[in-house]
Amino acid sequence: MAISINQIINKVKENNPRADETMIRLAFEFAEKAHHQQLRKSGEPYIQHSLHTALILAQIKADEETVMAGLLHDVPEDTEIELKDIEKNFGKEIAGLVEGITKLSKIKFRGVERYIESLRKMFLAMARDLRVILIKFADRLHNLRTLDALPEKKRERIAHETLEIYAPIAGLLGIWRLKWQMEDLCFKHLFPEEYRKLEYKYEVEKKVERNRYIQKVKNILGGKLSAAQIKFEIEGRFKHLYSIYQKMQKKDRKFDEIYDVFALRVIVNNIPDCYRVLGIIHSLWKPKASRFKDYIAVSKPNGYRSLHTTVFGPEGKATEFQIRTKEMNDEALYGISAHWYYKQKSGSNYEDDHKQPKWVKEILRIQREAANSQDFVKRVKFDVFANRIFIFTPKGDVFDLPEGSTPVDLAYAVHTDVGHFATSALVNDKIAALNQSLKNGDLVEIITDKKRKGPNRDWLKFVKTQRAREKINHATKASSFEAIRNLLPRIG
Ligand code: MN
Repeated sequence: MAISINQIINKVKENNPRADETMIRLAFEFAEKAHHQQLRKSGEPYIQHSLHTALILAQIKADEETVMAGLLHDVPEDTEIELKDIEKNFGKEIAGLVEGITKLSKIKFRGVERYIESLRKMFLAMARDLRVILIKFADRLHNLRTLDALPEKKRERIAHETLEIYAPIAGLLGIWRLKWQMEDLCFKHLFPEEYRKLEYKYEVEKKVERNRYIQKVKNILGGKLSAAQIKFEIEGRFKHLYSIYQKMQKKDRKFDEIYDVFALRVIVNNIPDCYRVLGIIHSLWKPKASRFKDYIAVSKPNGYRSLHTTVFGPEGKATEFQIRTKEMNDEALYGISAHWYYKQKSGSNYEDDHKQPKWVKEILRIQREAANSQDFVKRVKFDVFANRIFIFTPKGDVFDLPEGSTPVDLAYAVHTDVGHFATSALVNDKIAALNQSLKNGDLVEIITDKKRKGPNRDWLKFVKTQRAREKINHATKASSFEAIRNLLPRIG
């Protein structure tokens, strides 16, 4: 579907009435000229891809610089125009964003290696400027929407990569809108049969019934809420096909149990009203006791707040409610929240949450405190990523460590025994000493030797993490004790 720059400007102005319309228009004209006569595989003019990317960015409330960079994101890579021309016309900030995107798409890897490399690049780009990742997500989402034009192999590769890397990171950042859309599109391409079946059942077979039922609940509840003089909005919640599919993969959930749950969300003005709505719902319909959760009194570890309850609604049908304020709703849709952690470990309890890296917690804290999205991006950049480095292992794990960390710090972060038996390291495939300072993005493999006696107390002189310090101290104390004991027979 062809769109125009005016749609984007309108959307940007909705978020920020003082946005500079002229500059956005200039960025569009610049990109249009650069991509002149280029066509996408789908046959569309190339500029449509730039416009769609920018529109998605405006929809997730990105700032105007990000939207402009979205318009320009493929210019240096696919046209004669160079990055320095963008800088000359639009300044350092926007050129920097475009450069970030260009770097991110340069190298294409395959298999496990691709996975690690992609993750690595994503985290690095994120550390440089979070907005680069937003543009990459928007770019990817539009590519997924136009995937049909590509050969099957390429389609599969892109869909897999998105499910493995992009969608989880979007989830980590709490950009649910993008995460869901990406997942459903990948699902459609990777499992077309299953997708069609689910879509048919959910969208065709059940749709009329669902709409009729939700309308009925809305009428009954709406009447009661108005009578109680509570201001409210009620919306039916769309279930994402991929999340239904994932639930069905788990053996403990029956097909219809997932389908036939009707889901609604009630949004009110303040917290007392949340509880009043809950009381009214429970007085109307019998609640399923085990399904009631008060995430307002005790928020989820990532800050998520809402009341959840499932009742036997009209006609005895299981009906799920989420009750929250407008602010809570915005947080849940656009904010950075770490749902990733327990969604992925579904079935696990929330105690796993202490495994959440420190920087994720900090992002969440900033997200709660930041005045707006610009403020948020700036603070994440300076507060969270400034003194941290991301180190990657050959297995694809990412460790965040303080600046100046060494292979020994990494070894202890991986496992105590890896630390104790470390002898040297491979940093980006080159042999390195254990006291070498690591750099952001290094790929590090720790070499161990089981015959090694244990850690060296000299390591304490260079390690940066508390964990490594404690483990070394502990082990070397124990071994000096052992050494003394070993001497005893000789003394005796
Ligand atoms: Mn692109």
